[in-house]
Amino acid sequence: MEPLSKADQQLLDAAYDAGRRHCCPPNHTVATAARTADGSILTAVNVAHYSGGPCAEIVIIGIAASQDIHHLDAIATVGTNSHPGLRPPCGWCRQILYDYFPDLTVITGTDQEPRALPIAALLPGMSEWLDHHTAGTPSRTSNRPLRSPS
Ligand SMILES: [Zn+2]
Repeated sequence: MEPLSKADQQLLDAAYDAGRRHCCPPNHTVATAARTADGSILTAVNVAHYSGGPCAEIVIIGIAASQDIHHLDAIATVGTNSHPGLRPPCGWCRQILYDYFPDLTVITGTDQEPRALPIAALLPGMSEWLDHHTAGTPSRTSNRPLRSPS
């Protein structure tokens, strides 16, 4: 098995670091790091809740969008506390990540043998959100500043 590239190892290290620094059970137990097209790294944590709080992979999509970043190149996710270590995205996140970023690389495997795989390899026979895939890169429709309702 090929070792991770330097960039992918830095991404995984950023996920572990975010987990150590920002996770606090029971509310936040999983951390993720995503690399953007310019090589920047964003991090996020999950929002655990019995009603189905969002996974860290979903939170980071919103964080990226709030910075006008609409493409992610790679992602690595780690659990902390009671389930430490490298974690593959859940099925729900795999589908969403694929629909948003079909060429995304996912760091998966184990802590001892991490590997980089295309998101499509983690979701054989996946459903495709065709309207989203043909819509192109999302963009703001207006440059007007947001206003509070009056
Ligand atoms: Zn998930």
